[in-house]
Amino acid sequence: MKVFIHRKDLRVDDLAAFNYLLESGAPSLHMLILDPSLLGHSRHEAHSGKQFLRYVKRLMNLYQQYDRTLYVVYGEPEVVLERLLQNSPIDEVVLHSDFTPYAKSRDGKLRDVARELGVSFTTFIDHTLADLADFQITSGKSGPYKVFTPFYRKLNTYLQTFYRPSSPIHLSDLSTVNLAHWEDGHRLLELLQTFAPPFSWEDAPQAEDPAEQLDDFLRDHLPYYVERRDHYAYDGTSSLSAAMNAGAISIRKVYEAVMNQEHAAAWVRQLIWRDFYMYQAIYDDNFFSYEKCFDLSALSDRHFERWCSGQTGVPIIDAAMTELNETGRMPNRLRMITAMFLTKNLLCPFTLGEQYFRDKLHDYDNILNRGGWLWSASLGFDASPYFRIMNPVTQSVTHDPSGQYLRRWLPQLMDQNDKQIHLPQAHAIVDIKASRAAAIEVYKHIMRSKQIDGPDSS
Ligand SMILES: Cc1cc2nc3c(=O)[nH]c(=O)nc-3n(C[C@H](O)[C@H](O)[C@H](O)COP(=O)(O)OP(=O)(O)OC[C@H]3O[C@@H](n4cnc5c(N)ncnc54)[C@H](O)[C@@H]3O)c2cc1C
Repeated sequence: MKVFIHRKDLRVDDLAAFNYLLESGAPSLHMLILDPSLLGHSRHEAHSGKQFLRYVKRLMNLYQQYDRTLYVVYGEPEVVLERLLQNSPIDEVVLHSDFTPYAKSRDGKLRDVARELGVSFTTFIDHTLADLADFQITSGKSGPYKVFTPFYRKLNTYLQTFYRPSSPIHLSDLSTVNLAHWEDGHRLLELLQTFAPPFSWEDAPQAEDPAEQLDDFLRDHLPYYVERRDHYAYDGTSSLSAAMNAGAISIRKVYEAVMNQEHAAAWVRQLIWRDFYMYQAIYDDNFFSYEKCFDLSALSDRHFERWCSGQTGVPIIDAAMTELNETGRMPNRLRMITAMFLTKNLLCPFTLGEQYFRDKLHDYDNILNRGGWLWSASLGFDASPYFRIMNPVTQSVTHDPSGQYLRRWLPQLMDQNDKQIHLPQAHAIVDIKASRAAAIEVYKHIMRSKQIDGPDSS
């Protein structure tokens, strides 16, 4: 018997591990381990944790719908695995791996547990559009791509030739284990019950079907994506990030649905940005440690709380942070504007904003979030140049000219006219022009303090 452990792959079709399990012909016990390092400290109540649990709920319902059993437990993954392997005839652990430092360290511990108990340990990569290791070899490049546009062009060409289509294999094709019908299964069931989740999330609503979301987007919004994606008062984007990050829909199925559609290029480009950040997580040794490569001591948390609570006195920032705090959502352009405002105008370390988004974003993803914050803080591959600082007022006038978004989230500004509404208020915590000039000086020194060979433009 094998054990398959679900992670950020909360779906029942097109999973690399399912192909492998079917080929092996062996029965598999399917589990999901809710990890206290990711969901503890009340994170299950934050927008990011709640959204993940909604996808877990959906996955449990899908298993039920196909008359299969998913065992959902809560505990340190290596402790759960050790107890499971010690008490069962499992001879192989099968799972999908990830590139974050935490995921690598966790999987290293799981591998050690399996090795000590003489159990095979097999992993697959499943959440990128392209096979990035194969892409890197095929590109013939000695080092990594450091700029998005050449990466994008090459990856697009690569996909035309080497794209690996989605798999038709479904959970219902597998021979899965139901412990209630397994010899000695009651002992294992008792063991798994000792890892019951300490919080009640069964009443949580299940997430919507991402395939329906995708259909709606392709039908109603894709043709207008280019014009509307930055007009954040309208819902002109797909809102599929949370589903893709939880693996509730396969990135390959998303790509296949859009690849031959008219007007698809701009949206596919965004999917490739997603792969570009994953690629950096693999090929940029400093991706997770840029804060240690620069001297950030001139930065401080002085204005951080006001930024978090949406009380900076700059309407676009306060409206975006209010939306984030209340719903867990924030459109991409507003993420760029608020992140740049925090790191540049307010001179706060990017790591503080990154941590705040970690709890608050409904679609939080360690790699994509870090990528976005590095870009805003002018650190890492293809980041925003340190002297090009977005003016939040100009951004607000350009992308929400009538102030519709500002009135939605800051009703106290309802009566302001369309011009006035964008302007910093009397109590604004910084002057936009002066803080921009100060940030350029500070970041000039930060750039010079680099302890590593920085990215070049290849
Ligand atoms: C500071 C900052 C933090 C961010 N944190 C996250 C995060 O934690 N999780 C997350 O999924 N995205 C993050 N992003 C990227 C982006 O904002 C979201 O992916 C996007 O807003 C999701 O909305 P959507 O699904 O409607 O996107 P769409 O516009 O419909 O785009 C389709 C898909 O392309 C990908 N994509 C779109 N924009 C980007 C981008 N700028 N970078 C990488 N991939 C992109 C996403 O997977 C998205 O679902 C962050 C961006 C910034 C600037």
